[in-house]
Amino acid sequence: MEMLFGSALAVYNALVQLGKQPEVVVPEYPQLFAFLPNADKMQKEGTKQVYDLAIALDSSDIKRLNGFASYFEQAKTTVNIDHHSVNSMFADHNFVNPDSPACCQILILVLEYIGVTITKEIGSCLVTGIITDTGGFKYAGTSKETFEFISFLLSIGVNVADIYRRVLEKQSKGHFALSKIVMDRLELLEDGKIAFTYITKQDEQEAKAQNGDQSGLVDIGRSIEGVEVSILLSEKEEGLYKGSLRSNDYVNVSDACIMFNGGGHPRAAGCQIHASLEEAKEKILHEVKKHLK
Ligand code: 5GP
Repeated sequence: MEMLFGSALAVYNALVQLGKQPEVVVPEYPQLFAFLPNADKMQKEGTKQVYDLAIALDSSDIKRLNGFASYFEQAKTTVNIDHHSVNSMFADHNFVNPDSPACCQILILVLEYIGVTITKEIGSCLVTGIITDTGGFKYAGTSKETFEFISFLLSIGVNVADIYRRVLEKQSKGHFALSKIVMDRLELLEDGKIAFTYITKQDEQEAKAQNGDQSGLVDIGRSIEGVEVSILLSEKEEGLYKGSLRSNDYVNVSDACIMFNGGGHPRAAGCQIHASLEEAKEKILHEVKKHLK
């Protein structure tokens, strides 16, 4: 989710440059991203029923647009810019490249193609999306092009180091409090190949967690020596858990999540499981174990 804010604001700023009057509609956004140019323009709902053009970013499927799907379905023209391999090509115009490690890497090419000048402001948004999508250039998909884009963005004055620090190194108090809970509960299973942990709604209240504070928690398990798959279950409502899965070398966690109608990327995927915590844990572990060597 956090990669969305960089790409959404890059498109917003680009459309303003082209003299359009865009609306940028995203679910609640973490304060962490408030430094991005025009972050205050992000709105939770659109103001129109029917838009001339609707653009979906970093979304594999129209269902992933949740409450925004109706704007998309009713728009006169639709565009889908994404890097999920399972993208269902749900728009009139689809710019999808599963080899791209970040939606913003595709976006740079699309924006240049339609005549947008990549300014320092737009570049700051783009680099934010690239940094979040690649985990700070550390995920396997990070490519030669990634660094070529970063080199270009540095050449136009984008402060990459500052954005990196803001987005990946600074943590909110809520995130820190949740990290402690997640670490305390973390179990190493299957000879240490699986790291499992969870958080509940009550934990979030006690940690005074804000939207976005859960981001990165699943990486705690992944960073432990010997772990192949890290699983975080977080309670959304009673009897509903969101699963966040990450893998290191070979397990395709997207395949495991598809079994629960979820999806994502080979090394980062998610799903929703309607069950109690114990049942959800059992189900997801059962599925993940099938993929271990
Ligand atoms: P996260 O664990 O950070 O929420 O998501 C990691 C990746 O999995 C992202 O690419 C996200 O789009 C995808 N993902 C997360 N939850 C779901 C889900 O419920 N359904 C699908 N199809 N993809 C998901």
